[in-house]
Amino acid sequence: MTSSAPPDPRDVGIRVRGLRKQYGDRAAVDGIDFDCEPGTITGFLGPNGAGKSTTLRILTGLADADAGRALIRGRRYRDLPAPSREVGVMLDARSLHGGRTGIETLSLAATIAGMPASRAAEVLDLVGLEGAGRKRVASYSYGMRQRLGIGVALIGEPQVLILDEPANGLDPEGIRWMRLLLQDFAARGGTVLLSSHQLHEVQATVDHLLVIARGRLVRQGLLEEVVSAGGTRVGVTEPERLVAALDAIGAGHTQRSDGLVDVPLEPVQVGRLALEHRLILTSLGAVETGGLEDTFFSLTADPAAPATPALVTAQEA
Ligand code: ADP
Repeated sequence: MTSSAPPDPRDVGIRVRGLRKQYGDRAAVDGIDFDCEPGTITGFLGPNGAGKSTTLRILTGLADADAGRALIRGRRYRDLPAPSREVGVMLDARSLHGGRTGIETLSLAATIAGMPASRAAEVLDLVGLEGAGRKRVASYSYGMRQRLGIGVALIGEPQVLILDEPANGLDPEGIRWMRLLLQDFAARGGTVLLSSHQLHEVQATVDHLLVIARGRLVRQGLLEEVVSAGGTRVGVTEPERLVAALDAIGAGHTQRSDGLVDVPLEPVQVGRLALEHRLILTSLGAVETGGLEDTFFSLTADPAAPATPALVTAQEA
């Protein structure tokens, strides 16, 4: 046997283990685990209120977890000696100071990050705002603020990017620009974690997916695995008891109007669950997948909500 060096924790861009955060009597984040590796773009997908922002806020030191760890290159955000040189963060582009110009915003960010003054103009070009650098941020469109926010995130040449809904407010050209920028960042060995409720945007940009619903990860993996995993359509004599059993293990489900239940599990897993709960199955079949959107609906469906959950698709947004 050859001896090998212990793994360097800095080799993992983002590591989250057993993360929990409670607000009042409600768990906003209910024990989640995931890794984001260098060279990958991970989409953090889920309906509003699912726990995405809370997770990103904990990762970036803006909120404290009640339990668990959220590490960037092996360390908590607060323990990073020069955070903006390791991780670029954009949580809300609306929070940029409206009274400063674009170039002033980037110059300030460069100073804080300990970067040379020339970095501000370089990044202004990189985010396509070279013509608007001397205008006040208050006069920027939402899409321009998103670009500037990404510029601030990139200023310290970080290894990791954490972006909350970065495609919001961007036009199709802006969305394409962002996709190419992030893919280039990842191709150079960077780690990207971005949240979104714009399903189509995620599908075109990311290579890994984390799907969160009600504070729990209901699916994670390679994009094509998650999308192709249409799950199983189950017929059962007592659907309510199946649904209760699925809830107990935190699995998503969609109760169809014909009485069948779509679940994000393999038939063998459904069989085991049925055996354990003494449920009588009447049919088992594959769910035809209609792409990411259908998968997303079936994984994140709220058991308390009507059959069609109210979610925003890219076409509607
Ligand atoms: P998402 O980003 O997926 O829309 P959030 O992380 O913002 O979800 O919210 C998860 C849950 O936690 C929601 O029920 C939300 O109302 C609640 N929540 C988030 N932040 C706070 C807060 N500061 N105080 C109380 N509840 C909060």
